[in-house]
Amino acid sequence: MKPARFEYAAPDTLGEAVSLLERHADDDVKILAGGQSLVPLLNMRMARPELLVDLNRIAELQYIREDGEWLAIGAMTRKRAVEESDLVRRRQPALLAATQLVGHPQIRNRGTVGGSMAHADPAAEYPALALVLGAELRVVGPGGERSITADEFFKGYLMTAMEPVEVLTEVRVPVLAPGTGWSFMEVARRHGDFALGGATATVRLDASGSFSEVRIVLFGVSGSAVRLGGVEERLVGQRPGDALFREAGAAASESLEEPLSDVHASAEYRRNLAGVLTIRALGEAVTRAGGREPGQEER
Ligand SMILES: Cc1cc2nc3c(=O)[nH]c(=O)nc-3n(C[C@H](O)[C@H](O)[C@H](O)COP(=O)(O)OP(=O)(O)OC[C@H]3O[C@@H](n4cnc5c(N)ncnc54)[C@H](O)[C@@H]3O)c2cc1C
Repeated sequence: MKPARFEYAAPDTLGEAVSLLERHADDDVKILAGGQSLVPLLNMRMARPELLVDLNRIAELQYIREDGEWLAIGAMTRKRAVEESDLVRRRQPALLAATQLVGHPQIRNRGTVGGSMAHADPAAEYPALALVLGAELRVVGPGGERSITADEFFKGYLMTAMEPVEVLTEVRVPVLAPGTGWSFMEVARRHGDFALGGATATVRLDASGSFSEVRIVLFGVSGSAVRLGGVEERLVGQRPGDALFREAGAAASESLEEPLSDVHASAEYRRNLAGVLTIRALGEAVTRAGGREPGQEER
């Protein structure tokens, strides 16, 4: 199919893009980034914007920089650039792991970091990663710039806290602090498919080996990526171990109010998967917090 008619603008600067959006605040306008989600929606006529504002010419939105304890990533940075970044590999390996699970190389060549965050697909890797790492998202609109925490940014199925006149400009991801263990895993029918379900976790252990910090996020199993605050609280202060992980897994499964059910997997399957992946993700994260890689023998 072909998209419905639309006007097209390709500004060269962020300033021009923002003033275009402001001038068309009363029209149905869509921002185009890598087009890997939007173009299929246009072709299927599920989106029929009057105007498309293409950000691809805006070079100032493409970068990966270290900024103190953060990685600052321009919204138009391609996922391929993240995958190839030495800075990302050294400073935030969970971001590299999540990126390698996004679609196929062709998708990552075009798809952008900002596009995945703005699209907020429940099965997408980046929103889950943003939640587990405590990322911040910078947006610019006619009223100026504001910074939104990941917890505040993702509002539900394909919904974010951004206004239609705002542009996501930068995603700020904390670098991996020493002693933090992490895991990012998913189950998909084939490598590159959207996940049927996934889990990501970060943990820190205190001097006695008990959890001092735990963050767990599930994705692909309900209407949006979801942080398991209740399960996290129950784990803090406890010593990691198989029985505790199983308890956490059962609590994760129970916490899902309405697991997704579609042609790919039933709600029951996804509820079970949520528990299994929580157990595995905690195990991996604890191994890494102890300075080992999963699969390495304990000395
Ligand atoms: C075959 C296939 C497999 C895929 N598999 C996966 C997968 O496994 N995991 C996964 O996460 N994704 C997957 N995707 C989606 C892909 O990762 C997209 O790149 C991503 O969802 C959107 O990024 P984009 O840059 O292409 O954005 P676009 O498609 O251009 O835009 C997506 C939405 O975000 C808005 N938007 C984009 N940039 C901005 C911005 N800077 N400010 C404000 N709004 C903005 C657009 O208006 C639009 O509503 C797949 C896509 C395909 C076609």
